[in-house]
Amino acid sequence: MTSVASAPRHLSQITVDILYTGGTFGMVDHGDGLRPRRGLGSEITDVIARFERENGIAVRFDYAELEQVIDSADAGPDTARRIAERVRSGIAQRRPDGVVVVHGTDTMAYVGARMAFELRDVDVPVALTGAQIPLGLPGSDARSNLTLTLNSIGAQSVTGTFIAFGNSLHPAVRASKRACDDYDGFTTVRDCTPPPAAPRLPETRPHVDSPPVGLFTVFPGMQPDLLHAALRHYRGGLVLECYGSGTLPLHGSATVEAIRAATSRGTPVVVITHCDSGAVDLDRYQPGRALRDAGAISGGDMTREAALAKLGYLVHRGLPGSELRRWMTTNLLGELSNHPVPQPIPHTPN
Ligand code: ASP
Repeated sequence: MTSVASAPRHLSQITVDILYTGGTFGMVDHGDGLRPRRGLGSEITDVIARFERENGIAVRFDYAELEQVIDSADAGPDTARRIAERVRSGIAQRRPDGVVVVHGTDTMAYVGARMAFELRDVDVPVALTGAQIPLGLPGSDARSNLTLTLNSIGAQSVTGTFIAFGNSLHPAVRASKRACDDYDGFTTVRDCTPPPAAPRLPETRPHVDSPPVGLFTVFPGMQPDLLHAALRHYRGGLVLECYGSGTLPLHGSATVEAIRAATSRGTPVVVITHCDSGAVDLDRYQPGRALRDAGAISGGDMTREAALAKLGYLVHRGLPGSELRRWMTTNLLGELSNHPVPQPIPHTPN
C-alpha cells in the first residue's frame, strides 16, 4: 500500500534490486539528440560505492537492465505491467529490502501508478527514479536521485510504489511530472489517503490480450469526431479528462449519444477533472448530468495518470461492468479521496 510515513528505523545494511529501463538518467547524445544506452552497470556500481562511503550503509544489490532500454515516451500499454512482473519475480527470488526502477521521467507517473496497482499486495518498497540530466554530465541529478532512493529504502520510510526525485518522495498514485526544467520535476497532486485496510478485489481471470484503454482531454474547439473515434478505438475503456466539476462541449446531443452508445456496449467512460484541486461532481452542471445519464463513471479526484492506470489494471483483471464501476469508484490505495471533496463555499456579498 502506498503511503509516506515518518522513518521508524534505519538499516545499516540494505539489499536492493535495481532495474534500469532507460530514460535521461543513462542517455547520451551522439549528435542527433539524447538517446538511451545500455551497459550502465559499472557506473551504478560507482554511485553505490560512493553512497556506502558517504552514508555508512552497506548495499548489496542485484542490477539488471531491460533487453531494450527506451526513452520513456515509447512506453506502451504493457510496459508498466511487464516491469511490475519483473519486480515481483525479483522480490520472490531475493527478498530485497527495496526495489529501485530507473525510468524516464516523461511517463514515470503513468508507469509508476500502474505498477502501484499491479504490486498492491507487495510489502517491499518500490521506488522509481530518473534524472533531468544524464549521469556523468555537469549538473546531473542522476546520482543524487539514486542516493535519495537508497536512503529512503534504508530508512524504510515509505511503503508501496513511489517516485523518488529531487528532494521528495511522491506516492505514485498521486504523482505527476510538472517540470522539465527543475530538479524537482514531480508534484504530489492532492494528498494520498490510503484506506485503513486494503480492499479485496474479486478473483477474476486476467485477459491475455486486454482491450485497449485510452485517455482523451476535452478542449475548446474539440472536434466531436475525435472523441467518437476514441470511444470506438479504446474498447476497454476511456478516461475522459473534462473541465472543472466534469463538463465538456456537448455539440447538441451527438457527444452524449456517442458516450451512451459506448457505455451500453460495455466500454466504461471515466470522467476526471483538469483541476489540481477539487473533484468531479456529475450532479453540478447540466453537461455533467448528461454524462452521468449516459452511463459515465465519476473518477472523483484521481490524477489522469492514476485514472488511466487503474482503468487499465481493472480491465486487464477482467472485471465485469458493474464490478468495474464499483472498484473504479473505491479507494484502493490512496488514488482517490476517501470522502467526497467539499464543494466551494459560495461567496456571500456583504
Ligand atoms: N525523454 C526522457 C524519458 O522520459 C525524459 C527523462 O527521462 O527525463 O525517457
